[in-house]
Amino acid sequence: MVGHSSLNATQTIAYESRYLVPTYTRSDRVFTHGEGSYLFDTAGNRYLDFASGIAVTALGHSDQMWIEAVKDQADQLVHVSNLYHTTPHVQLAQRLVENSFADRVFFCNSGSEANEAALKFARKWVRVAIGVDNKTNIVAFEGSFHGRTMGALSVTARQQYRDPFAPLMPGVSFAPFNDLDAARKAIDSKTCAVIVEPVQGEGGVRVAEPGFLECLRDLCDQHQVILVFDEVQCGLGRTGYLWAHENYAVTPDIMTLAKPLAGGLPIGAVLVVEAVAATMQPGDHGSTFAAGPLVCRAGQAVFDRICPTKFLRTVRANGEYLQDCLRRLQSAGIVDVRGSGLLIGVEFNSAVKPIISAAADKGLLIINAGENVLRLCPPLIVTREQIDRAVEIIRECLG
Ligand code: PLP
Repeated sequence: MVGHSSLNATQTIAYESRYLVPTYTRSDRVFTHGEGSYLFDTAGNRYLDFASGIAVTALGHSDQMWIEAVKDQADQLVHVSNLYHTTPHVQLAQRLVENSFADRVFFCNSGSEANEAALKFARKWVRVAIGVDNKTNIVAFEGSFHGRTMGALSVTARQQYRDPFAPLMPGVSFAPFNDLDAARKAIDSKTCAVIVEPVQGEGGVRVAEPGFLECLRDLCDQHQVILVFDEVQCGLGRTGYLWAHENYAVTPDIMTLAKPLAGGLPIGAVLVVEAVAATMQPGDHGSTFAAGPLVCRAGQAVFDRICPTKFLRTVRANGEYLQDCLRRLQSAGIVDVRGSGLLIGVEFNSAVKPIISAAADKGLLIINAGENVLRLCPPLIVTREQIDRAVEIIRECLG
C-alpha cells in the first residue's frame, strides 16, 4: 500500500503506550480489517462484532455501497470549508429534514459537538425569542451521557467523568430518569433546556418509560423550555425506528445525532425546528471540518440504506429475537434484559468485565454500559445465524 508502513501487533501495542495520551484501556487485539458483522485481527482471528465501534458501524464493515460512495467522492472533492457551497451536505440535510420533525440541520463532527451546539442554540432561543437573560438553567438526568467537551460534560451525570475537570458549566441539575414527579419539580421558569436520551446508552441501556418523554414535552411547553433529545446512540434505526422518539407520541425541539450517521466517519448533526433555527445568525456557530462533501456522501449512503421501512422492520424483529434469546439464557447472575431494537442491555448482579473478556477470547466483541450491564449493539445488518452464535458464546461464558 502506498506510503503505508506496517507494524506488527506487539509493536503497535508498544507504540500506543509510548506515544498516546493514556485516556483508554484498550484490549490487546489489533484489528486489521472488517467484513459485514465480522472483524479480523493481526493473528487472523475472526470476531463477531456486537460492539459496532460503540453503535457506529450500523451497516457493518466494508459495505460495498458505502465504499463506492466514499471512493467516488474522494476522487472528486473532500473539503472546501463552510465558506462555499457543496452539494452533498444539502442532500444529506434534505434527507434528515424530510424524514423527521425538523425544519433545518446544523452539521458538526461528533456527538459531543452536537450537544454543545444544542445547548448554545437553546440559550440563543431563550435570549432572542423569550427576551430574557436569566433563564439559563439546564435539566439533565441521572445516568445520562452526553459527551466529554465542557458543555456536554456539564450535562453528563457520572461523577468520575466530571470531577477531574470541575468547575463545569453552572446551572445544571440532574433529575432521576423516568421520574415524573422529580421532573415536575426540576423544570421551572428559570430552565432554558431539558436534555434527555430516549434510550440511555452509557447509563446502562435504560429505555424511557411510556409517558415520561410526553410529560417532559408538556413541562417544556408550559415553561417555555427547549426540549433536546440526544439520539446520538439510539437514533437512526438503532431502535428499529428511524428515530428512537417515534416509540413515543412526542417530538423534541432539537435532536442530536452522530455515531452511525456516516458509517464510521466523524459527523454530528443537530436537527432543529424553525423557531430555533430562526434565532441563529451567520457567525453564531460554526466548524471548520463539518459537513464536508466526503462525510456527507457517506452519510447519504448510510441514510438511504437505513431509512426504508423494510430495513427498520427487520431491525425490530431481530432486536426482539435477540432479547428473547438472552432471556432464555436463564443464568442465575442475570437481573434484567432490556433495550429497544438492537440496543440491548443485560444486567448482571456483578461486574461484566470478565464476561466481555471471555467472549472476546471466543470470538465475540461486546461492551459494557456501566459496571454490571453488558451492552449488545450489533450492526443493524446482523443475521439470525450471527445472533444465535453470539448468544451461544455468551451462554458458554456464563458457564
Ligand atoms: N451522546 C450520547 C447518547 C452518547 O452515547 C455519546 C457517546 O457515547 C455522546 C453523546 C458523545 O458522542 P461523541 O463521543 O461522538 O462525542
